[in-house]
This record gives sequence, structure tokens and C-alpha cells, in this order.
Amino acid sequence: MNTSPVLFAQALTKSYGRVQALRGVDLEVQRGEVFGFLGPNGAGKTTTIRILLDLIRPNGGTVRVLGLDPQKDSLAVRTRCGYLPGELHLEEGETVETILRQFNALRGGKADWNYIRSLADRLGLDLKVQARNLSKGNKQKVGVVQALMHRPELLLLDEPTSGLDPLIQQEVYQLLREATADGATVFFSSHVISEVEQLADRVGIIRNGVVVEVAATQTLIQRALRHARVRFSGGIQAPALDGIPGVAVLSRSADTLVLQIEGEMDALIKALAQFPVAEFETARPSLEEVFLAYYER
Ligand code: ATP
Repeated sequence: MNTSPVLFAQALTKSYGRVQALRGVDLEVQRGEVFGFLGPNGAGKTTTIRILLDLIRPNGGTVRVLGLDPQKDSLAVRTRCGYLPGELHLEEGETVETILRQFNALRGGKADWNYIRSLADRLGLDLKVQARNLSKGNKQKVGVVQALMHRPELLLLDEPTSGLDPLIQQEVYQLLREATADGATVFFSSHVISEVEQLADRVGIIRNGVVVEVAATQTLIQRALRHARVRFSGGIQAPALDGIPGVAVLSRSADTLVLQIEGEMDALIKALAQFPVAEFETARPSLEEVFLAYYER
């Protein structure tokens, strides 16, 4: 079995004139993973994706895509990848069908038209419409179909659900799950936290051209601070629980504590078990808070 990473970038740098867009990006994505690439506007996501496909050249660093050097095997890399750019340029006067035929021809005409029709159908995209008459969301659907239609091994998607309505977003997530079930690897940039939460096995966070964190999505969720509210019954005074590692008391009234909890809850639950607990509520941690903390730091 081939265990080398599907995507590999080391010490990638890229400047546009005086703007240093990438300052040493390191990334590794394994076969079959869904990897979410997050970061504030201008952090370097699009630049990284474009370098991976050799659409622009880096100033320094190493890139491997599907084990190939995109600068040497650019055509092979692009044929085996499905790419959804942030802004897809479409020939205004052509119909969606003609445009998809052109994309298909570029990749050696391998796509199955039954599959293309079923993708268009599921996304509610009319193949007969001219590009100039497509709404923003419908243009995005063309982008999604052309990225998926040749069943590529690797999908590189720059904000895949940008401009799509919530129902179509869910359909795109489903299509991506089906692609990974068939063995594809997905690398996508996003600003939508719920999308990352629903799709990504791992996330990488880029800030100012440097990847500042890579972690399993679940690990990030677990790392988030939870809030809990505990009410004690039988007229018992709220006990002191400050001594439990990771637990801080935010407020207390006669019979109620509001707590902030970091990490696992086991020690807290065991301590609470010694008291008559009438109610225990805990708020699900928000990934959004975690990401905002990274963005702002
Ligand atoms: P967004 O979330 O807004 O799409 P991004 O993370 O994809 O942002 P990039 O588009 O990679 O960020 O941009 C990284 C930096 O490089 C930004 O400062 C941007 O202004 C700059 N940049 C990108 N493309 C060019 C270009 N063609 N010429 C000059 N500067 C550029």
C-alpha cells in the first residue's frame, strides 16, 4: 500500500512584489483524508492551493502532489486532481454542457456523462443554460461538477460552498462524502466553521502565510472550553470545586454553580457524584470560538 502523503509541502514561500503571502508553509495530507484549510482573509490559502497545482510558482520550498512534483509533472497532477478555484472563469456565450465538455476534453475525455448528469441533477443545475445567465450560486455548481466529474483521486477545493444555498451545501457535503468513500482525498479551504465540523477529519490553520496549527477536528472541539451549570437539591450549599484540574468557577449562587471546564469531564463528574445534583447542563463547545482564538492571536 502506498503510504506516502497525497499532499506534501515544506517550507513553501511566495511573495507578490513586496507582499510576502507565504512565509514557510508546511503541510501533509494523507490518502483518504478530508482536510480543512482555514484562515482569515489574505492568510495564504488560495496561494497555497494554486502552488500545489503549479498555477503559480513558489519562491522556495518543496511540493509533492500524489507523489509528483507539480512543476515537473504539471499535466499529470492536474489530470488526476479535481480543482475548484475560488473564482471560476466561464465563457459567457457557452452553455453549461459545452463548458463541461471542454473541461472533460482537457482531462482526456474520461468522464461518464451519466455521472455528470446525475451531479447536475442533484445540484439543480440546468446544463442548457448559457454561462452569462447563471447566478453566482449556479456558477459555483458548474465549478463543483467540473471538479468532481472525472472522479479524481484528489480534490482541491477553494471555498467549495461559497454562494450556495443551505440545501445545496448539504448536497455538496454528501457528494464529497461519497467521493471519499470511493477513496478520494479532499483538501478544501473554508470560512464556514459548520462545514469544517461536518466534513473535515483534520484541519490546518494558516495565519500570515504560516500554518500555525494542524489537529484532528475532534481534538480541537475537545480542546474548546465548555460551560456547565450545576444546581444542587436538598438545600445544599454549592460546594467548592475549584480544586479540580481544568475546572474554574465562573459564578455561584446559593444552590447553583456555573463552571468553565477545559478537557475531559471525568474528574468533575466524580466530584459532583458526592452531592445531590438536581440539574446538570453543559453547552456544546463551539469550534468557532477555537478558530476565532487562533485568528485573533
Ligand atoms: P481569502 O480568504 O480572502 O480568499 P487567502 O487566504 O486565500 O484569502 P491569498 O489569496 O492566498 O489569501 O492571499 C495571500 C496574500 O497575498 C494576501 O495578502 C493577498 O493580498 C496577496 N495576493 C494574492 N494574490 C496576489 C496577486 N496576484 N498579487 C499581489 N498580491 C496578491
